[in-house]
Amino acid sequence: MMGSVLPPRVDDAPQPAIAPAARALTEAMAAIYGRGWCDGTGGNFSCVLQQEPLRLLMAPSGVHKGAVAPEALIEVDGQGTVVRGSGKASAETALHLAIVKQCQAGAVLHTHSQAGTLLSQWGLAQGHLELRDLEMLKGLSGITTHACSVQLPVLANDQNLQRLSSLAAPLLPQAPQGLLIAGHGLYAWGDTLPNAMRHLEILEFLLEQHWRQLLLRAVAPPPCT
Ligand SMILES: [Zn+2]
Repeated sequence: MMGSVLPPRVDDAPQPAIAPAARALTEAMAAIYGRGWCDGTGGNFSCVLQQEPLRLLMAPSGVHKGAVAPEALIEVDGQGTVVRGSGKASAETALHLAIVKQCQAGAVLHTHSQAGTLLSQWGLAQGHLELRDLEMLKGLSGITTHACSVQLPVLANDQNLQRLSSLAAPLLPQAPQGLLIAGHGLYAWGDTLPNAMRHLEILEFLLEQHWRQLLLRAVAPPPCT
């Protein structure tokens, strides 16, 4: 018997205005998966389709983010209710919405990378990670020199995302377009999807650099001058 591929249902197919955004988001997700930052079904990714009323395009919960078809994305409203597409919205939608509303973000990218997971647990007691004196800091919006430092907030993980979002809210205005959840991962955002992607890549680089610096200092302290 010949196999057949059913076309997507008409009401599940992205509308013409949505299709470019859906394609851009799924390409970003595949690229992020390719970097090893959302293994398994880890991570979640969203971009704003419209502000009034707020509509977010997102990957549904529990799917592998490396090969999501544009028509498999879901659309949620400002309360996190799915208004288009089949699939469930992740519980993490609450934090995406808090970041979008408070930071005027156009896209939120949430990874479960090795470096983010490792350093988030390491930095939890202090409540932040300080990242400083690196040229790559200039990839974050508003930073023009390597001679500076940023404090990346670190919050305790919580399965109650409403509670976690309210704890994150006061930290968002000063956050360097990102924050860490302990033992869990990184949230990065930007006013557009390309800018959110740039911030994600910069923050993941800075986190990689930070744990390597910590390790190097521990095993081979810099020579005294
Ligand atoms: Zn997560």
